[in-house]
Amino acid sequence: MRKALPRCRGLADFVDVWHPRDLLLVTRKAQRDLAQKLLFEHHKKTFPDEPVPLLYRSRDTRLQNILVPIPGPDRVKEELVLNDVVVVSVETAQEVLDGEWGKDWALGYAMTVHSSQGLTIEDPQKVWIVDDYTQWSNLTYLAVSRVQYLRQLARCCPPPEAEGHTPRLAYDEHKACKNIARKLQAYKRADAAKGHKCNLRLRIKDVEALQKKQRNRCDSCNIELLWCYEPKDTRQFSIVRIDNTQGHARGNVRLLCLECSRKRVAAVFTHCEATKDVPLEKISADQLQNLFDSI
Ligand SMILES: [Zn+2]
Ligand SMILES: [Zn+2]
Repeated sequence: MRKALPRCRGLADFVDVWHPRDLLLVTRKAQRDLAQKLLFEHHKKTFPDEPVPLLYRSRDTRLQNILVPIPGPDRVKEELVLNDVVVVSVETAQEVLDGEWGKDWALGYAMTVHSSQGLTIEDPQKVWIVDDYTQWSNLTYLAVSRVQYLRQLARCCPPPEAEGHTPRLAYDEHKACKNIARKLQAYKRADAAKGHKCNLRLRIKDVEALQKKQRNRCDSCNIELLWCYEPKDTRQFSIVRIDNTQGHARGNVRLLCLECSRKRVAAVFTHCEATKDVPLEKISADQLQNLFDSI
């Protein structure tokens, strides 16, 4: 599959042939945010008269299909749903980035593969895949299903420090073991609080066996998992239960990266009877963290 596609362009090379109507698909939010910043700067200089795509991303799920004021001097309103794209002038886009039009808008040059679900990209629009060599197959198959012709697909290298300036720590076996032990301890407490009795309590070597079985990949997005990491690094491993009514027992867990694991928590939150009507933005980071620790 990799060979069937054009060669991977370096970042500078990519920016040169990129057009504002193109869509960049990434796997990580940090990559997306960094790429968008870069592309907007390039857009202002090179395409001052081309419109800027804005993504509508209201986090209030109750606000679907309502008339939304579109940023810009015309004060028009449109009926929008989450992830709809509107276009505005470069000046208006700058105002949006400066926070003058509320929090429901983001640049729409790039999105994660998961939020691009259901989108069809029409020729001659291009879809650029950020090729960071770790999650190639998943990403490509998803990207291919977004286009009409293969010629619309192109790939490029990730922006430098694509993980939001989180330095990648060197692997150290002793530290990795300590990190696993610390997480297992937290899961044990959470399980106990929920009254799970586990006969097959997870041990460090079970986690290591899983790591081998999954070839050190996140079971959802397929990136390489980190075992030594800065606390905020979302590439770190996370041990997630398969059946939520059971505890963290052998045979009932899989490994996800922290980003996927958080997405899963948010999904559970939205589907749970007690919380499904609470807008996600009303849920505090602490609440989310508690829930995260408990499921
Ligand atoms: Zn993942
Ligand atoms: Zn348990």
